[in-house]
Amino acid sequence: MFACIFRILTGMLLLACTYSSTLAWADDAYLSEEKDILVVAHSSEWKPYSYLTSEGQPKGLLIDFWRAYAKYNHTSIQFMLLDWPESLSYMKEGGDRVHAGLLKSPERETYLDYVTPIFNTNGSLYVQNQSGKVSKEPLAAGKEVGVVSESYESWFLSEHYPEVKQKRFTRNEALFAAALDGEIQALVADSQTANFYFLTQGKPLAFVADQVLYTQPIYAAVPKGNQALLNEVREGINNIPAEERLRIKQRWVNTERVEAYPAWLLPGAVLAVMFGAVTYIFILKRMVYKRTVALRQANTRLREFANTDPLTQLLNRRGLDAYFARLKPKLSRQQEMGLILIDLDHFKQVNDTYGHMQGDKVLVHLASYLKRFVKKGAVARLGGEEFCVLCPTQDLDALIELANHIRCDVADTVFEFEGADIRVTVSIGAIVSSDVVDGIAALELDALIHAADLLMYRAKNRGRNQVMLASSSSVGTPIAEI
Ligand code: GH3
Ligand code: MG
Ligand code: MG
Repeated sequence: MFACIFRILTGMLLLACTYSSTLAWADDAYLSEEKDILVVAHSSEWKPYSYLTSEGQPKGLLIDFWRAYAKYNHTSIQFMLLDWPESLSYMKEGGDRVHAGLLKSPERETYLDYVTPIFNTNGSLYVQNQSGKVSKEPLAAGKEVGVVSESYESWFLSEHYPEVKQKRFTRNEALFAAALDGEIQALVADSQTANFYFLTQGKPLAFVADQVLYTQPIYAAVPKGNQALLNEVREGINNIPAEERLRIKQRWVNTERVEAYPAWLLPGAVLAVMFGAVTYIFILKRMVYKRTVALRQANTRLREFANTDPLTQLLNRRGLDAYFARLKPKLSRQQEMGLILIDLDHFKQVNDTYGHMQGDKVLVHLASYLKRFVKKGAVARLGGEEFCVLCPTQDLDALIELANHIRCDVADTVFEFEGADIRVTVSIGAIVSSDVVDGIAALELDALIHAADLLMYRAKNRGRNQVMLASSSSVGTPIAEI
Protein backbone atom coordinates (compact mmCIF):
# COMPACT_ATOMS: atom_id res chain seq x y z
CA MET A 1 0.00 0.00 0.00
CA PHE A 2 2.74 2.51 1.01
CA ALA A 3 4.90 1.49 -1.91
CA CYS A 4 1.92 2.27 -4.09
CA ILE A 5 1.42 5.72 -2.48
CA PHE A 6 5.11 6.41 -2.85
CA ARG A 7 5.00 5.47 -6.53
CA ILE A 8 2.04 7.82 -7.08
CA LEU A 9 3.85 10.65 -5.28
CA THR A 10 7.08 10.07 -7.19
CA GLY A 11 5.08 10.06 -10.40
CA MET A 12 3.42 13.34 -9.48
CA LEU A 13 6.79 14.85 -8.58
CA LEU A 14 8.35 13.71 -11.85
CA LEU A 15 5.42 15.15 -13.75
CA ALA A 16 5.77 18.44 -11.85
CA CYS A 17 9.55 18.53 -12.51
CA THR A 18 9.08 17.84 -16.22
CA TYR A 19 6.47 20.55 -16.41
CA SER A 20 8.54 23.14 -14.54
CA SER A 21 11.71 22.43 -16.53
CA THR A 22 9.72 22.81 -19.73
CA LEU A 23 8.56 26.21 -18.54
CA ALA A 24 12.11 27.27 -17.68
CA TRP A 25 13.27 26.17 -21.10
CA ALA A 26 10.42 28.03 -22.77
CA ASP A 27 11.32 31.17 -20.83
CA ASP A 28 14.96 30.91 -21.84
CA ALA A 29 13.99 30.25 -25.42
CA TYR A 30 11.78 33.30 -25.40
CA LEU A 31 14.60 35.39 -24.01
CA SER A 32 17.19 34.02 -26.38
CA GLU A 33 15.16 35.26 -29.34
CA GLU A 34 16.02 38.80 -28.23
CA LYS A 35 19.13 40.53 -29.47
CA ASP A 36 20.01 42.91 -26.59
CA ILE A 37 21.21 41.42 -23.35
CA LEU A 38 21.15 43.59 -20.26
CA VAL A 39 23.63 42.54 -17.60
CA VAL A 40 22.20 42.97 -14.10
CA ALA A 41 24.54 42.71 -11.13
CA HIS A 42 23.78 41.99 -7.49
CA SER A 43 24.75 39.79 -4.57
CA SER A 44 24.86 36.01 -4.82
CA GLU A 45 23.60 35.61 -1.27
CA TRP A 46 21.49 38.55 -0.18
CA LYS A 47 18.30 36.67 0.61
CA PRO A 48 15.52 37.35 -0.04
CA TYR A 49 16.54 39.98 -2.61
CA SER A 50 18.89 37.94 -4.73
CA TYR A 51 20.78 34.69 -4.30
CA LEU A 52 21.96 31.62 -6.13
CA THR A 53 20.20 28.36 -5.40
CA SER A 54 22.21 25.20 -4.73
CA GLU A 55 21.73 24.44 -8.45
CA GLY A 56 23.27 27.81 -9.30
CA GLN A 57 19.98 29.40 -10.39
CA PRO A 58 19.37 33.09 -9.60
CA LYS A 59 16.41 33.63 -7.33
CA GLY A 60 14.89 36.34 -5.20
CA LEU A 61 12.68 39.41 -5.12
CA LEU A 62 15.01 41.53 -7.28
CA ILE A 63 15.59 38.64 -9.68
CA ASP A 64 11.83 38.37 -10.26
CA PHE A 65 11.66 42.14 -10.66
CA TRP A 66 14.30 42.14 -13.39
CA ARG A 67 12.71 39.14 -15.08
CA ALA A 68 9.48 41.15 -15.19
CA TYR A 69 11.54 44.01 -16.67
CA ALA A 70 12.75 41.65 -19.42
CA LYS A 71 9.21 40.49 -20.11
CA TYR A 72 7.62 43.92 -20.35
CA ASN A 73 10.45 45.38 -22.39
CA HIS A 74 11.11 42.43 -24.69
CA THR A 75 14.72 42.28 -23.76
CA SER A 76 17.00 39.67 -22.24
CA ILE A 77 18.64 39.75 -18.86
CA GLN A 78 21.86 38.15 -17.78
CA PHE A 79 22.40 38.08 -14.04
CA MET A 80 25.84 38.65 -12.61
CA LEU A 81 25.55 37.52 -8.99
CA LEU A 82 28.75 38.04 -6.96
CA ASP A 83 29.89 38.69 -3.41
CA TRP A 84 28.53 42.11 -2.43
CA PRO A 85 31.82 44.07 -2.60
CA GLU A 86 32.56 42.42 -5.95
CA SER A 87 29.16 43.42 -7.32
CA LEU A 88 30.04 47.03 -6.55
CA SER A 89 33.52 46.69 -8.08
CA TYR A 90 31.83 45.29 -11.17
CA MET A 91 29.72 48.43 -11.46
CA LYS A 92 32.78 50.61 -10.97
CA GLU A 93 34.21 49.18 -14.19
CA GLY A 94 31.43 50.98 -16.11
CA GLY A 95 29.77 49.95 -19.36
CA ASP A 96 26.24 48.81 -20.17
CA ARG A 97 25.38 47.14 -16.91
CA VAL A 98 22.80 47.71 -14.26
CA HIS A 99 22.88 47.22 -10.52
CA ALA A 100 19.68 45.36 -9.54
CA GLY A 101 19.05 47.45 -6.47
CA LEU A 102 20.89 49.18 -3.65
CA LEU A 103 20.60 52.01 -1.18
CA LYS A 104 21.92 55.49 -1.81
CA SER A 105 25.14 56.56 -0.14
CA PRO A 106 27.44 59.47 -1.02
CA GLU A 107 30.34 57.11 -1.69
CA ARG A 108 28.30 55.16 -4.23
CA GLU A 109 27.28 58.35 -6.01
CA THR A 110 30.87 58.75 -7.11
CA TYR A 111 30.51 55.86 -9.52
CA LEU A 112 26.75 55.25 -9.90
CA ASP A 113 23.73 57.09 -11.25
CA TYR A 114 20.50 56.04 -9.55
CA VAL A 115 17.63 55.27 -11.82
CA THR A 116 14.34 54.72 -9.99
CA PRO A 117 13.35 53.53 -6.54
CA ILE A 118 12.10 49.97 -6.69
CA PHE A 119 11.07 48.85 -3.20
CA ASN A 120 11.41 50.26 0.29
CA THR A 121 13.56 48.51 2.81
CA ASN A 122 14.73 49.13 6.33
CA GLY A 123 17.85 48.38 8.28
CA SER A 124 17.87 47.41 11.92
CA LEU A 125 20.28 46.95 14.75
CA TYR A 126 20.14 43.37 16.00
CA VAL A 127 21.41 42.43 19.45
CA GLN A 128 22.14 39.11 21.05
CA ASN A 129 19.26 37.76 23.13
CA GLN A 130 20.28 35.39 25.91
CA SER A 131 17.12 34.16 27.61
CA GLY A 132 15.59 37.62 27.53
CA LYS A 133 18.86 39.40 28.42
CA VAL A 134 20.05 41.67 25.61
CA SER A 135 23.34 43.49 25.18
CA LYS A 136 23.21 46.98 26.69
CA GLU A 137 23.93 50.11 24.62
CA PRO A 138 25.22 48.20 21.63
CA LEU A 139 26.03 51.40 19.69
CA ALA A 140 28.12 52.96 22.48
CA ALA A 141 31.64 54.07 21.64
CA GLY A 142 34.05 51.18 21.34
CA LYS A 143 31.33 48.51 21.00
CA GLU A 144 31.80 46.06 18.16
CA VAL A 145 29.04 45.67 15.57
CA GLY A 146 29.03 43.26 12.60
CA VAL A 147 28.25 44.44 9.05
CA VAL A 148 28.88 43.34 5.47
CA SER A 149 31.81 45.12 3.81
CA GLU A 150 30.93 48.06 1.61
CA SER A 151 27.27 47.74 2.51
CA TYR A 152 24.98 50.68 3.13
CA GLU A 153 24.81 49.46 6.73
CA SER A 154 28.57 49.87 7.01
CA TRP A 155 28.38 53.39 5.55
CA PHE A 156 25.43 54.25 7.83
CA LEU A 157 27.37 53.21 10.94
CA SER A 158 30.47 55.16 9.90
CA GLU A 159 28.30 58.20 9.25
CA HIS A 160 26.09 58.12 12.33
CA TYR A 161 28.06 56.09 14.87
CA PRO A 162 31.72 56.72 14.03
CA GLU A 163 32.83 55.57 17.50
CA VAL A 164 31.42 52.08 16.97
CA LYS A 165 33.96 49.45 15.94
CA GLN A 166 32.83 47.66 12.80
CA LYS A 167 33.60 44.03 12.24
CA ARG A 168 33.29 43.55 8.49
CA PHE A 169 32.33 40.39 6.61
CA THR A 170 32.33 39.92 2.84
CA ARG A 171 29.17 37.79 2.92
CA ASN A 172 25.89 37.86 4.80
CA GLU A 173 26.21 34.18 5.65
CA ALA A 174 29.56 34.80 7.36
CA LEU A 175 28.06 37.73 9.29
CA PHE A 176 25.09 35.74 10.60
CA ALA A 177 27.19 32.64 11.30
CA ALA A 178 29.53 34.81 13.43
CA ALA A 179 26.47 36.16 15.27
CA LEU A 180 25.09 32.72 16.02
CA ASP A 181 28.54 31.48 17.06
CA GLY A 182 28.71 34.28 19.62
CA GLU A 183 31.63 35.94 17.84
CA ILE A 184 29.67 39.24 17.71
CA GLN A 185 26.94 40.47 20.05
CA ALA A 186 25.38 43.03 17.69
CA LEU A 187 24.98 43.59 13.97
CA VAL A 188 23.33 45.96 11.53
CA ALA A 189 21.51 44.39 8.61
CA ASP A 190 18.53 44.65 6.35
CA SER A 191 15.51 43.51 8.40
CA GLN A 192 14.17 41.10 5.78
CA THR A 193 17.58 39.53 5.31
CA ALA A 194 18.29 39.17 9.02
CA ASN A 195 14.89 37.70 9.81
CA PHE A 196 15.30 35.28 6.97
CA TYR A 197 18.70 34.02 8.13
CA PHE A 198 17.81 33.67 11.80
CA LEU A 199 14.61 31.90 10.87
CA THR A 200 16.24 29.45 8.46
CA GLN A 201 18.85 28.60 11.06
CA GLY A 202 16.01 27.65 13.41
CA LYS A 203 16.99 30.42 15.85
CA PRO A 204 14.50 33.23 15.29
CA LEU A 205 15.06 34.61 18.79
CA ALA A 206 18.86 34.31 19.04
CA PHE A 207 19.05 38.00 18.03
CA VAL A 208 16.29 40.58 18.37
CA ALA A 209 15.76 43.86 16.54
CA ASP A 210 16.82 46.54 19.01
CA GLN A 211 15.85 49.47 16.80
CA VAL A 212 15.06 50.30 13.20
CA LEU A 213 17.91 52.56 12.08
CA TYR A 214 16.56 53.69 8.71
CA THR A 215 13.90 53.14 6.06
CA GLN A 216 15.17 53.75 2.54
CA PRO A 217 14.22 52.90 -1.02
CA ILE A 218 16.28 50.45 -3.03
CA TYR A 219 17.31 52.02 -6.34
CA ALA A 220 18.31 50.48 -9.61
CA ALA A 221 21.61 52.04 -10.68
CA VAL A 222 23.82 52.33 -13.77
CA PRO A 223 27.50 53.31 -14.08
CA LYS A 224 27.98 57.04 -13.73
CA GLY A 225 27.59 59.06 -16.88
CA ASN A 226 25.86 56.39 -18.98
CA GLN A 227 22.89 58.65 -19.72
CA ALA A 228 21.50 56.50 -22.55
CA LEU A 229 21.35 53.44 -20.36
CA LEU A 230 19.91 55.50 -17.50
CA ASN A 231 17.04 56.69 -19.74
CA GLU A 232 16.49 53.24 -21.17
CA VAL A 233 16.29 51.55 -17.77
CA ARG A 234 14.11 54.31 -16.30
CA GLU A 235 11.65 53.90 -19.15
CA GLY A 236 11.88 50.12 -18.90
CA ILE A 237 11.07 50.09 -15.19
CA ASN A 238 8.10 52.39 -15.80
CA ASN A 239 6.79 49.78 -18.23
CA ILE A 240 6.36 47.27 -15.39
CA PRO A 241 2.76 47.59 -14.15
CA ALA A 242 2.40 48.64 -10.51
CA GLU A 243 0.29 45.56 -9.70
CA GLU A 244 3.03 43.30 -11.08
CA ARG A 245 5.55 44.95 -8.73
CA LEU A 246 3.18 44.47 -5.83
CA ARG A 247 2.65 40.84 -6.77
CA ILE A 248 6.40 40.23 -6.85
CA LYS A 249 6.92 41.89 -3.49
CA GLN A 250 4.07 39.98 -1.86
CA ARG A 251 5.28 36.72 -3.33
CA TRP A 252 8.63 37.13 -1.64
CA VAL A 253 7.41 38.53 1.61
CA ASN A 254 5.09 35.52 1.85
CA THR A 255 7.02 32.73 0.18
CA GLU A 256 10.41 33.38 1.64
CA ARG A 257 9.19 31.96 4.93
CA VAL A 258 7.91 28.90 3.17
CA GLU A 259 11.31 28.29 1.64
CA ALA A 260 12.72 28.28 5.14
CA TYR A 261 11.13 24.89 5.66
CA PRO A 262 13.03 21.80 4.60
CA ALA A 263 12.40 20.48 1.08
CA TRP A 264 10.96 17.24 2.38
CA LEU A 265 8.27 19.00 4.38
CA LEU A 266 5.66 19.26 1.61
CA PRO A 267 5.93 15.65 0.34
CA GLY A 268 6.24 14.61 3.99
CA ALA A 269 3.05 16.44 4.85
CA VAL A 270 1.29 14.93 1.83
CA LEU A 271 2.49 11.48 2.89
CA ALA A 272 1.40 12.13 6.47
CA VAL A 273 -2.04 13.25 5.30
CA MET A 274 -2.34 10.20 3.04
CA PHE A 275 -1.12 7.96 5.83
CA GLY A 276 -3.67 9.58 8.13
CA ALA A 277 -6.40 9.06 5.53
CA VAL A 278 -5.43 5.42 4.99
CA THR A 279 -5.31 4.82 8.75
CA TYR A 280 -8.64 6.56 9.15
CA ILE A 281 -10.21 4.43 6.41
CA PHE A 282 -8.69 1.32 7.97
CA ILE A 283 -10.07 2.21 11.42
CA LEU A 284 -13.41 3.10 9.87
CA LYS A 285 -13.56 -0.22 8.00
CA ARG A 286 -12.65 -2.07 11.14
CA MET A 287 -15.35 -0.25 13.09
CA VAL A 288 -17.90 -1.00 10.38
CA TYR A 289 -16.83 -4.65 10.39
CA LYS A 290 -17.12 -4.86 14.20
CA ARG A 291 -20.49 -3.14 14.19
CA THR A 292 -21.71 -5.45 11.39
CA VAL A 293 -20.66 -8.51 13.40
CA ALA A 294 -22.34 -7.11 16.52
CA LEU A 295 -25.48 -6.32 14.50
CA ARG A 296 -25.50 -9.81 13.02
CA GLN A 297 -25.14 -11.31 16.50
CA ALA A 298 -27.91 -9.08 17.81
CA ASN A 299 -30.14 -10.14 14.89
CA THR A 300 -29.42 -13.80 15.60
CA ARG A 301 -30.26 -13.29 19.29
CA LEU A 302 -33.44 -11.45 18.32
CA ARG A 303 -34.44 -14.26 15.96
CA GLU A 304 -33.73 -16.84 18.67
CA PHE A 305 -35.74 -14.77 21.11
CA ALA A 306 -38.67 -14.51 18.68
CA ASN A 307 -38.58 -18.28 18.05
CA THR A 308 -38.23 -19.39 21.68
CA ASP A 309 -40.80 -20.02 24.38
CA PRO A 310 -39.69 -17.93 27.39
CA LEU A 311 -40.84 -20.38 30.09
CA THR A 312 -39.39 -23.65 28.77
CA GLN A 313 -36.77 -22.36 26.30
CA LEU A 314 -38.22 -24.75 23.72
CA LEU A 315 -39.13 -23.57 20.23
CA ASN A 316 -42.45 -21.78 20.05
CA ARG A 317 -44.88 -22.21 17.16
CA ARG A 318 -42.94 -19.66 15.09
CA GLY A 319 -39.67 -21.50 15.73
CA LEU A 320 -41.31 -24.79 14.80
CA ASP A 321 -42.44 -23.26 11.49
CA ALA A 322 -38.84 -22.31 10.73
CA TYR A 323 -37.56 -25.75 11.70
CA PHE A 324 -40.24 -27.42 9.54
CA ALA A 325 -39.20 -25.27 6.55
CA ARG A 326 -35.56 -26.32 7.01
CA LEU A 327 -36.29 -30.01 7.57
CA LYS A 328 -38.74 -30.52 4.73
CA PRO A 329 -36.31 -30.29 1.79
CA LYS A 330 -33.73 -32.43 3.64
CA LEU A 331 -35.94 -35.51 4.01
CA SER A 332 -34.67 -38.42 1.93
CA ARG A 333 -36.93 -40.71 -0.13
CA GLN A 334 -37.18 -43.26 2.66
CA GLN A 335 -37.95 -40.69 5.34
CA GLU A 336 -41.22 -39.09 6.28
CA MET A 337 -42.09 -36.21 8.55
CA GLY A 338 -43.35 -37.44 11.91
CA LEU A 339 -45.26 -35.31 14.39
CA ILE A 340 -46.19 -36.15 17.98
CA LEU A 341 -48.65 -33.87 19.78
CA ILE A 342 -48.56 -34.14 23.58
CA ASP A 343 -51.17 -32.64 25.91
CA LEU A 344 -51.04 -32.91 29.68
CA ASP A 345 -54.09 -34.53 31.19
CA HIS A 346 -56.16 -32.57 33.68
CA PHE A 347 -53.47 -30.03 34.05
CA LYS A 348 -55.91 -27.46 35.30
CA GLN A 349 -56.27 -29.67 38.38
CA VAL A 350 -52.52 -29.63 38.90
CA ASN A 351 -52.59 -25.85 38.96
CA ASP A 352 -55.62 -25.83 41.18
CA THR A 353 -54.07 -28.29 43.66
CA TYR A 354 -50.45 -27.22 43.79
CA GLY A 355 -50.59 -23.67 42.48
CA HIS A 356 -49.65 -22.12 39.14
CA MET A 357 -45.95 -21.87 40.08
CA GLN A 358 -45.70 -25.59 40.68
CA GLY A 359 -47.57 -26.13 37.42
CA ASP A 360 -44.90 -24.03 35.67
CA LYS A 361 -42.17 -26.20 37.17
CA VAL A 362 -43.87 -29.30 35.82
CA LEU A 363 -43.95 -27.72 32.37
CA VAL A 364 -40.25 -26.76 32.60
CA HIS A 365 -39.22 -30.26 33.74
CA LEU A 366 -41.29 -31.92 31.08
CA ALA A 367 -39.71 -29.65 28.47
CA SER A 368 -36.18 -30.52 29.54
CA TYR A 369 -37.04 -34.22 29.62
CA LEU A 370 -38.40 -34.04 26.05
CA LYS A 371 -35.33 -32.13 24.89
CA ARG A 372 -33.02 -34.79 26.31
CA PHE A 373 -35.12 -37.69 25.10
CA VAL A 374 -35.68 -36.63 21.48
CA LYS A 375 -32.29 -37.04 19.78
CA LYS A 376 -33.33 -36.31 16.20
CA GLY A 377 -35.84 -33.58 15.50
CA ALA A 378 -37.22 -30.60 17.37
CA VAL A 379 -39.38 -30.16 20.45
CA ALA A 380 -41.73 -27.19 20.72
CA ARG A 381 -44.29 -25.83 23.12
CA LEU A 382 -47.32 -24.92 21.05
CA GLY A 383 -49.01 -23.14 23.92
CA GLY A 384 -50.38 -23.83 27.40
CA GLU A 385 -49.68 -27.45 28.37
CA GLU A 386 -49.36 -28.66 24.78
CA PHE A 387 -46.04 -29.87 23.34
CA CYS A 388 -45.00 -31.14 19.96
CA VAL A 389 -42.17 -33.31 18.62
CA LEU A 390 -41.33 -32.91 14.94
CA CYS A 391 -38.84 -35.42 13.56
CA PRO A 392 -37.85 -37.36 10.46
CA THR A 393 -39.06 -40.94 10.77
CA GLN A 394 -38.84 -44.15 8.76
CA ASP A 395 -42.41 -45.32 9.37
CA LEU A 396 -45.32 -45.21 11.74
CA ASP A 397 -43.91 -48.04 13.90
CA ALA A 398 -40.84 -46.02 14.76
CA LEU A 399 -43.04 -43.09 15.70
CA ILE A 400 -45.37 -45.30 17.81
CA GLU A 401 -42.38 -46.49 19.78
CA LEU A 402 -41.14 -42.97 20.38
CA ALA A 403 -44.57 -41.65 21.41
CA ASN A 404 -45.31 -44.52 23.73
CA HIS A 405 -41.92 -44.18 25.36
CA ILE A 406 -42.71 -40.58 26.14
CA ARG A 407 -46.17 -41.44 27.51
CA CYS A 408 -44.74 -44.16 29.81
CA ASP A 409 -41.83 -42.03 31.02
CA VAL A 410 -44.16 -39.16 31.97
CA ALA A 411 -46.63 -41.46 33.72
CA ASP A 412 -43.78 -43.06 35.73
CA THR A 413 -42.28 -39.74 36.78
CA VAL A 414 -42.98 -38.17 40.15
CA PHE A 415 -42.33 -34.43 40.14
CA GLU A 416 -41.20 -33.53 43.63
CA PHE A 417 -41.49 -29.83 44.36
CA GLU A 418 -41.34 -28.48 47.92
CA GLY A 419 -42.69 -31.64 49.49
CA ALA A 420 -45.43 -32.17 46.92
CA ASP A 421 -45.31 -35.29 44.78
CA ILE A 422 -46.96 -34.41 41.52
CA ARG A 423 -47.87 -37.03 39.01
CA VAL A 424 -49.13 -36.26 35.52
CA THR A 425 -50.07 -38.20 32.44
CA VAL A 426 -50.20 -37.18 28.81
CA SER A 427 -52.46 -37.88 25.88
CA ILE A 428 -50.70 -38.14 22.56
CA GLY A 429 -51.69 -37.93 18.90
CA ALA A 430 -49.00 -39.12 16.46
CA ILE A 431 -48.93 -38.83 12.71
CA VAL A 432 -46.58 -39.32 9.74
CA SER A 433 -46.72 -37.11 6.65
CA SER A 434 -48.03 -39.77 4.28
CA ASP A 435 -51.18 -39.95 6.39
CA VAL A 436 -51.97 -36.38 5.58
CA VAL A 437 -50.92 -35.84 1.95
CA ASP A 438 -49.30 -37.96 -0.77
CA GLY A 439 -46.38 -35.78 -1.80
CA ILE A 440 -44.00 -34.20 0.68
CA ALA A 441 -43.91 -31.00 -1.40
CA ALA A 442 -47.57 -30.35 -0.65
CA LEU A 443 -47.13 -30.96 3.08
CA GLU A 444 -48.04 -28.13 5.47
CA LEU A 445 -47.27 -28.02 9.18
CA ASP A 446 -50.80 -26.84 9.95
CA ALA A 447 -52.23 -29.96 8.30
CA LEU A 448 -49.94 -32.22 10.32
CA ILE A 449 -50.77 -30.48 13.60
CA HIS A 450 -54.47 -30.52 12.82
CA ALA A 451 -54.39 -34.27 12.10
CA ALA A 452 -52.37 -34.97 15.26
CA ASP A 453 -54.77 -32.77 17.26
CA LEU A 454 -57.74 -34.83 16.17
CA LEU A 455 -55.94 -38.00 17.25
CA MET A 456 -54.90 -36.44 20.57
CA TYR A 457 -58.55 -35.55 21.37
CA ARG A 458 -59.52 -39.08 20.45
CA ALA A 459 -57.01 -40.24 23.07
CA LYS A 460 -58.58 -37.87 25.60
CA ASN A 461 -62.00 -39.16 24.86
CA ARG A 462 -60.85 -42.72 25.32
CA GLY A 463 -59.79 -42.00 28.88
CA ARG A 464 -56.44 -40.12 28.55
CA ASN A 465 -52.88 -41.42 29.16
CA GLN A 466 -52.96 -42.99 25.70
CA VAL A 467 -51.28 -42.69 22.31
CA MET A 468 -53.54 -42.50 19.28
CA LEU A 469 -52.10 -43.19 15.82
CA ALA A 470 -53.36 -42.51 12.32
CA SER A 471 -54.39 -45.14 9.83
CA SER A 472 -52.39 -45.11 6.63
CA SER A 473 -55.44 -43.98 4.68
CA SER A 474 -57.50 -41.90 7.02
CA VAL A 475 -56.68 -39.89 10.06
CA GLY A 476 -60.21 -40.29 11.28
CA THR A 477 -59.80 -44.06 11.75
CA PRO A 478 -56.96 -44.83 14.14
CA ILE A 479 -55.10 -48.06 13.49
CA ALA A 480 -53.58 -48.30 16.85
CA GLU A 481 -54.25 -47.22 20.36
CA ILE A 482 -51.84 -47.76 23.13
P1 GH3 B 1 -57.40 -32.01 29.53
O1 GH3 B 1 -56.98 -33.30 30.11
O2 GH3 B 1 -58.72 -32.03 28.94
O3 GH3 B 1 -56.38 -31.43 28.67
O4 GH3 B 1 -57.51 -31.03 30.80
P2 GH3 B 1 -56.74 -29.79 31.08
O5 GH3 B 1 -57.09 -29.24 32.41
O6 GH3 B 1 -55.29 -30.04 30.92
O7 GH3 B 1 -57.15 -28.87 29.95
P3 GH3 B 1 -57.76 -27.44 29.86
O8 GH3 B 1 -57.60 -27.03 28.45
O9 GH3 B 1 -59.09 -27.40 30.46
O10 GH3 B 1 -56.81 -26.57 30.76
C1 GH3 B 1 -55.49 -26.35 30.44
C2 GH3 B 1 -54.87 -25.80 31.61
O11 GH3 B 1 -53.49 -25.63 31.49
C3 GH3 B 1 -55.42 -24.45 31.99
C4 GH3 B 1 -54.29 -23.71 32.59
O12 GH3 B 1 -54.45 -23.52 33.96
C5 GH3 B 1 -53.10 -24.62 32.33
N1 GH3 B 1 -52.04 -23.86 31.78
C6 GH3 B 1 -51.95 -23.37 30.51
N2 GH3 B 1 -50.77 -22.68 30.35
C7 GH3 B 1 -50.12 -22.74 31.54
C8 GH3 B 1 -48.88 -22.20 32.01
O13 GH3 B 1 -48.10 -21.55 31.31
N3 GH3 B 1 -48.56 -22.47 33.31
C9 GH3 B 1 -49.35 -23.18 34.11
N4 GH3 B 1 -48.93 -23.41 35.34
N5 GH3 B 1 -50.50 -23.68 33.69
C10 GH3 B 1 -50.92 -23.48 32.43
MG1 MG C 1 -54.59 -28.43 26.22
MG1 MG D 1 -54.61 -30.68 28.97
